[in-house]
Amino acid sequence: MPVRPPAPALASIDVYDPHYVVCETMLSANENPWDVDGALRQAINEALARVPLHRYPDPLAQTLRNLIADAFDLDPSWVLVGNGGDELLCDLALAWGGPDRTFLSVPPTFSVYGHNARLTNTKIVEVERQDDFSIDRDTVVSRLALGDIDYMIVTSPNNPTGNGLSDEDLLALLEVSDTLVVVDEAYGEFAQHSALPFLQAYPNLMILHTFSKAYSMAGVRVGYVLAHPEVIDQLIKVRQPYSVSSLSQVVASVAFAHREVFKPRIDAILKERKRLEEALKAFNCMTVYPSEANFVLVRIPEAHELWGYLENQGVLVRDFSANPLLKDCLRISVGLSEENDRLLSALGSWIHAKGYC
Ligand SMILES: *Cc1c(COP(=O)(O)O)cnc(C)c1O
Repeated sequence: MPVRPPAPALASIDVYDPHYVVCETMLSANENPWDVDGALRQAINEALARVPLHRYPDPLAQTLRNLIADAFDLDPSWVLVGNGGDELLCDLALAWGGPDRTFLSVPPTFSVYGHNARLTNTKIVEVERQDDFSIDRDTVVSRLALGDIDYMIVTSPNNPTGNGLSDEDLLALLEVSDTLVVVDEAYGEFAQHSALPFLQAYPNLMILHTFSKAYSMAGVRVGYVLAHPEVIDQLIKVRQPYSVSSLSQVVASVAFAHREVFKPRIDAILKERKRLEEALKAFNCMTVYPSEANFVLVRIPEAHELWGYLENQGVLVRDFSANPLLKDCLRISVGLSEENDRLLSALGSWIHAKGYC
């Protein structure tokens, strides 16, 4: 028999494609260039050796949940751990989206939000960011004031543009309606400010963090949200009960307990970002957008061709040039200094050959 068609929502959905091909120098996925090593790696290995594999994991990852709650001076009922931030974003769409529900997005931003909204038959309203990629506050606020937006997500620092959300903009969003405002701080550890100070006062605020970026654990798949317990309780209703494996819980718990070891590497990444930004600007033929994260967005003529050239040279960056809001844009993750040098040298050869500047 042929198979009958799947759910109609799937007709408009493309498979998420991270454009991940293996290259010698991987600067495309905003991962931390340093793997976990040394004493922390050892502590993780020892803890992993004691995990019972025949038992189901703790559904709510209580050990990790308590550690996170303590760190932010919250009750554990304000924390939910997920299988990466991505699972929590999906839970969010299940709990706050759905048929007859509306999601407001501020593109260009992380494509997973729209994907989850389409998957759950949620209506999408888009308010494009301004030329400098800051949010168009007046338009967003007047749209929220209509009262029909169920949830919105602002990424801060934004992926792929790198800029953060100002406190004034965030407050305007939180004050105008009861819309659930989600601040995705996947890159928050690299930035100077956070939505955290507003959490207690605003029951319509939710903050997303992940272990995948600053904490070097993209492979482990752990993220968490912070929000008032009434919000957390709704997410718990829709989540898969055993989504975070015992192994991931243990790895993340040991890492979180020793999270100060990541600090020097975060600082080193920020220093390298500054060096990379200055070197890119010195080419004088591209726009280098200001970043508060571990990546830099650039706009350069013939970006798509350049992307292919770099890949050929063994340097993978992320190509956004097909997105009409990111015409001729490439996103470069900050790597180790020798990796950044390789990128700069390949870029230099291309620019020289093209005679751009
Ligand atoms: C990387 C990322 C996430 C979360 O990734 P996980 O690996 O699923 O934790 C969430 N939001 C943005 C904007 C990201 O870039």
